Order: sequence, then structure tokens, then C-alpha cells
Amino acid sequence: MGRKPGAERTFTVSIEAPADLGYDVYGVPEGSTVEIELRLEAIMEGILATGSASARATGECVRCLDSIDNNVVVGFQELYLFDDAPEDQKSEDSFILEGELLDLETALRDAVVLALPHNPLCGPDCPGLCAECGARLADDPGHTHGEAIDPRWSALSQLADQPVRTAETSESGNVPDDSKE
Ligand SMILES: [Zn+2]
Ligand SMILES: [Zn+2]
Repeated sequence: MGRKPGAERTFTVSIEAPADLGYDVYGVPEGSTVEIELRLEAIMEGILATGSASARATGECVRCLDSIDNNVVVGFQELYLFDDAPEDQKSEDSFILEGELLDLETALRDAVVLALPHNPLCGPDCPGLCAECGARLADDPGHTHGEAIDPRWSALSQLADQPVRTAETSESGNVPDDSKE
């Protein structure tokens, strides 16, 4: 595309995700598909790239360690200066066009890193894990470890005590037998 201000091109591209797109705990898996819609617009100083990227982000919930697999859509906009742009317009952070090439990967990585939460959750209200036994509370909302023993269990423990006493008595051989007298 030319440098004439106002010139515009729109693309849709599919790329394979580069490594480290995101964080260790949550990110776009390397090699997975990233769909990018991109509009390039020539302005005086360079090319303005406006796009949105749609990708799959996977990771682990920081509260319950359940796996997360979400579609994420991130928008980005970067100005790529022509490499002969005046020096006073360039800064360390400027993207500079290298001939006809523009470094989309850095723009994409910045956008994804900004968009993804550092502390991903499987859901906004994830209750996390039980502090006592590690059960996932979202699977078992009524989960408690109270002092009170469930009545069904206390009944069972009484039943369990009785047969033992009976057995001891019958095996002792000292059961009084009044029938002979
Ligand atoms: Zn969770
Ligand atoms: Zn528990």
C-alpha cells in the first residue's frame, strides 16, 4: 500500500500464536490459531494499524486450580512510523516500519498481556478450595466441617458399638444360665 494519507487496507489473517503470548498461569497456547482483523490506514507520519485478535486462552483458576479455556478478543491500535520519519517523532517505544513490514507480534503481545487478568478465575464468584480438605467448593456449595456430627453418622456409630459388647459377653462363657436350677 502507498504512503498517500487516507489510503486504507483491511485484512483478515489467521496466524499461529507465538510463544509466551500471555502469562505463565494464563495465556494463548503457542501454535494455537489467532484470528486477526486488521485495518491499516496511511497517515502523515506512518501507518496506523487498528485490529482485533480473537484467540483461545488457557490456564488455571488461581483459587480452585480448575482449568480455564476461554475465547478472548483483544483490540489494539499502533502507529508504525515510516523509517524516515523525523527523529523528534521517534521514541524508544515507537514502532518503526521496516520497509513494508510491520511488527505485529509485539503489538499483539502487548494487547494480550494487557487484556488477560494476572489472576484468572474459572468464574467471577469462584469460592476456591476448602481450607481443610482441599475440595473444590464450587462443586459442593454446602460443604462444611462443623463440630456437629451428622445425625446419620452418630446413629451408625452407636450401632457399631453394640455388637462388639454382645460378642464379648457371649464368648466369655460366663453367661449365667438359670434354666438348670
Ligand atoms: Zn475456580
Ligand atoms: Zn472440606
